[in-house]
Amino acid sequence: MDHLHDDVIRKVADHDVRFIRLWFCDIVGALKSIAISPADLETAFTEGIGIDGSTIEGLTRSYESDMLLRPDPSTFELIAWRGTSNATARMMCDVLTPDGEPAASDPRRVLRDQLSRAEDQGLELFVHPEIEFYLFQEPYQVGEALRPIDRAGYFDHVHRGNGQDFRRLAVEHLEAMNIQVEYSHHENGPGQNEIDLRYADAMTTADNIITLRTVVKEVALGLDQVATFMPKPMVGEPGSGMHTHLSLFQGGKNAFHEPGAEYGLSRMGRQFIAGLLRHAPEYCAITNQWVNSYKRLWGAQEAPSYICWGHNNRSALVRVPFHKPTKGTSSRVEYRGTDSATNPYLAFAVLLAAGMKGIEEGYDMPEGAEDAVWELTDRERQAMGIEPLPTDLFRALDNFEHSELMAETLGEQVFEFFLRDKRNEWSRYREQVTRYELESTFGRI
Ligand code: MG
Repeated sequence: MDHLHDDVIRKVADHDVRFIRLWFCDIVGALKSIAISPADLETAFTEGIGIDGSTIEGLTRSYESDMLLRPDPSTFELIAWRGTSNATARMMCDVLTPDGEPAASDPRRVLRDQLSRAEDQGLELFVHPEIEFYLFQEPYQVGEALRPIDRAGYFDHVHRGNGQDFRRLAVEHLEAMNIQVEYSHHENGPGQNEIDLRYADAMTTADNIITLRTVVKEVALGLDQVATFMPKPMVGEPGSGMHTHLSLFQGGKNAFHEPGAEYGLSRMGRQFIAGLLRHAPEYCAITNQWVNSYKRLWGAQEAPSYICWGHNNRSALVRVPFHKPTKGTSSRVEYRGTDSATNPYLAFAVLLAAGMKGIEEGYDMPEGAEDAVWELTDRERQAMGIEPLPTDLFRALDNFEHSELMAETLGEQVFEFFLRDKRNEWSRYREQVTRYELESTFGRI
């Protein structure tokens, strides 16, 4: 047994841990969890813990339902909101087939494969996400009007506001679980907040996002609030994006940085952006996986709808943020398309694959767009070569289905399951008669 396993077993004894939760995700990035007792830890590390995967979205094919969970000892943390006596801990798990092979359907496996492809070229992906979400008052029943916890806006300081208490507790819990928070603030929408995590390698960041969603939901419930990461919960108010800052490191150095270059951005950085832009229509179904995601993308309010990049342009899909000239390590690419309800493992895998394609094939970065792309006419946008993102999940899935890059990146099983699952979601949506249709049509004709 290696020393990481020993460390975990020692911590379990030191903290009097009563339960260890084994965490993993289904294909849409929803957290799944089973609890084991400390006595089963050693078996979990050596053999894995058997589960019936057949009821988990996308995890197994119909003829194979037995799966194994193998905890990753480097992710052991006490669950902050469960207190320190008789504590509960968690570890993220890899999902394995009964013969111990990585399961094709495990989102962590998809990301790991993509990361090791980059590693073969000496590159490591670092990510810093800005995670937006809304807080509403409890109790909430689906179908009722939503009641945001406040009416504040961007960066507002709300005196004795519920949002402040919320953010303080959420950040404390995250830090207690070894997740570094860069900053947190009120966002533009009523009851909308944002928490930004510090740069970390892509796998750690994806694990941290799953934990953050759980912490946010738990803390909210403790304050009689309900949190949602849904991309566009309210008509006419901003959606919840997850702007994703990406950079590739090579031999300990930021490979996107070139001193003296425009925006400090290296050739590799430019090619990466070109790859992100060219393949955006194909991977959009992954970064924006819900019917509701497209209400955000096409609802303005600083969400991107067009495929272009800019420096100061917050309506662009990709932004090259300001970097401190003295800090070469901070050169990065901000992808603004992703929403807060994505599966982060799959999203980072497809963003990396698109960027790497740009590097491998030496794509040229198109001209930047510094005008607010929203304010241009369709004709002006066309003249500049700026295409729209897919306008709904149906169109996004069409592009996805014809993408070799997506089939290759996700592997056949995830690719096909995702397509089937999401086409079903679209069909169910299409069957609905909405309040909008009744209000706008019923009395008119
Ligand atoms: Mg924001």
